[in-house]
Amino acid sequence: MGTAAMQLAVIVPCYNEQEALPLTIARLTELKSRLVRDGAIGEASTITFVDDGSTDRTWSVIESAAAADASIHGIKLSRNSGHQNALIAGLLTVPGDLLVSVDADLQDDLEAIGAMLAKCREGAEIVYGVRNDRGSDTAFKRVTAEAYYRLMRLFGVDLVFNHADYRLMTRTAIGALEQYGEVNLFLRGIVPQLGFKTASVHYARTERVAGESKYPLRKMLALAWEGLSSFSPSPLRWITAIGLAISLLSFLIGCWALAATIFFGGTVPGWASTVVPIYFLGGIQMLSLGIIGEYISKTYLETKRRPRYVIEKKV
Ligand code: UDP
Ligand code: MG
Repeated sequence: MGTAAMQLAVIVPCYNEQEALPLTIARLTELKSRLVRDGAIGEASTITFVDDGSTDRTWSVIESAAAADASIHGIKLSRNSGHQNALIAGLLTVPGDLLVSVDADLQDDLEAIGAMLAKCREGAEIVYGVRNDRGSDTAFKRVTAEAYYRLMRLFGVDLVFNHADYRLMTRTAIGALEQYGEVNLFLRGIVPQLGFKTASVHYARTERVAGESKYPLRKMLALAWEGLSSFSPSPLRWITAIGLAISLLSFLIGCWALAATIFFGGTVPGWASTVVPIYFLGGIQMLSLGIIGEYISKTYLETKRRPRYVIEKKV
């Protein structure tokens, strides 16, 4: 199936991206015109920037770009709702046959979009952009990211290794995504669950073109935890297992103490053997309660069915 008559819609979440945006807009517009000329996509293809409650001049940059070019659109969210919510706001409201999501900082090679379209012509409904090196990241981000993918695997969450939110989805795949109403959104975990024929495109990730990372450690940790706790109940099971093992162990120690009393005339009355287990078990219990609480709070948030984003205006 060809994609020449298909309308491509590129979705770009932006949070305080005034420095990077002018270049991103220029590059995306150039790429889109080239793809239209080559007959890879339809002429009515669009680019939509989702302003995730920026506090700088991001929205006015988007507005003037939209005024100058009819194929550029903007969606302004009423406040900062986070990268994942900004993405879903775009994916669920922008029309188009093929939707590509990409970051505003040009870290992801835009040329990969051409390759994604090729995979789409071969029949893929979802095409993942996969980075083939992490050379442009700090050693810390590299190590933590790798460890995170491994941990998620261990807990049984299906993630595409080294893929973030740079991907192409057809209208059919978006239709399936629409049915996922969860508030604790982790798209990287949801998309592989949709099924369909998928494909991957490899590219090298580069440095951000301008501005600073909008993902400080705090947001990174929050996203990592969101991914784990909204997809896998296995931490709860692990706690049960650890609790069981500790109780068995203390039972054995109890038996030993009893045997020692009967056969050797008693153990030395120790302070450590009394106090240490109290603290140890106390700690384990608090940890367990904390994790259980996390899941309960998730249930609480989901049952409220609050909107994931509020659109203030569109251009
Ligand atoms: N972003 C967003 N809302 C946020 C944080 C980030 O829409 O609350 C956007 C940001 O503008 C960028 C993308 O998400 O387009 C990825 O952020 P960034 O490049 O800062 O993350 P990093 O590449 O450092 O992980
Ligand atoms: Mg970035």
